[in-house]
Amino acid sequence: MSRFASETVRALSPYEPGEQPQDRRYIKLNTNESPYPPSPGVLRCLNGDAAAGCRLYPDPVCAGLRDALAAQYGVRRENVTVTNGSDEALNFAFLAFGEDGVRFPDITYGFYPVFAELHREKYQTVPLREDFSLHVEDYGADDAMIVIANPNAPTGMALPRSAIEALVQAHPNHVVLIDEAYVDFGGESAVPLTQKYDNLLVVQTFSKSRSLAGARVGYAIGCEALIRDLETLRYSTNPYNINRLSLCAAEIAVREQPYYDDRCRQICETREAARQALTGLGFEVLSSRTNFLFARHPAIAGQRLYQELKERGVLVRHFSQPRIADFNRITIGTPEDMAAMLGLLEEIIHEKR
Ligand code: PMP
Repeated sequence: MSRFASETVRALSPYEPGEQPQDRRYIKLNTNESPYPPSPGVLRCLNGDAAAGCRLYPDPVCAGLRDALAAQYGVRRENVTVTNGSDEALNFAFLAFGEDGVRFPDITYGFYPVFAELHREKYQTVPLREDFSLHVEDYGADDAMIVIANPNAPTGMALPRSAIEALVQAHPNHVVLIDEAYVDFGGESAVPLTQKYDNLLVVQTFSKSRSLAGARVGYAIGCEALIRDLETLRYSTNPYNINRLSLCAAEIAVREQPYYDDRCRQICETREAARQALTGLGFEVLSSRTNFLFARHPAIAGQRLYQELKERGVLVRHFSQPRIADFNRITIGTPEDMAAMLGLLEEIIHEKR
């Protein structure tokens, strides 16, 4: 830290992203990326016109992508803003709507407290129940913004749309932000409710179900006034927040949605097979509507299992936070990746005995 650093910088504990090691090839099951490549049209566009167009700034309105998303979700362009990864949408939303404070679960996406601290907002964590389930009636009075990842991460568990609606109705004077980064793997989206409630903001991403984590594209859907607030922040920071290549890739990805639907179906099938196999090895596995499984074994500590897998060339994600230190989050890879990972787990567990 320099002697010039502001108090905000001094007080920050930044978010720690999952490892992206460059030292050797791992079977990478640690950051919830898709194991499948982007669709054929996306690959074609990146090799041709879009690259040539990089001489020019991108469209600051992002009209093409917003219209494509609006058509996909049955809303209007004015109900959609696009951002540099959904992290940027979350950042803007905390800044725009968190002034009275923010409330979110004790076990959830680790970036939420960082955004609150960055913007010097008070935040309160609400414990998930013993079985890691989330109950909307635990979210207290209508005196703070509420942020819920649905499905939640890293647990993978999901709430039905009716529960989200009850939460939105119980907090009419504050924004309820639903982070749907993983919704395409079997969750129920709250997007239709944005047409009915002016305090609901839904955030989604191209990073998981659309194989574009490296392109950094996310978006938020809500009523026109909420979106205008986020656009004000976008134009006050970087109106060119999505580069030309990513804009083009994302727009084509929306048009090629059936390709991604097939991939999501495959990932869900692989997930269910992996869940059964893990259960067979003695793991406790939480129910998942995402592209990952959250699992613990009664005989091996979470950190130890993470380390043993890493030494054998498989990366998973371990969090040392108290209630979940015995778990690991395992991203769903290809069936071959999963078979290799399961084989190694069997070996590790066998050695323990
Ligand atoms: N929300 C949740 C719950 C996540 O797990 C992630 C991925 N780290 C994000 C948002 C951000 O994803 P991205 O910025 O790549 O869209």
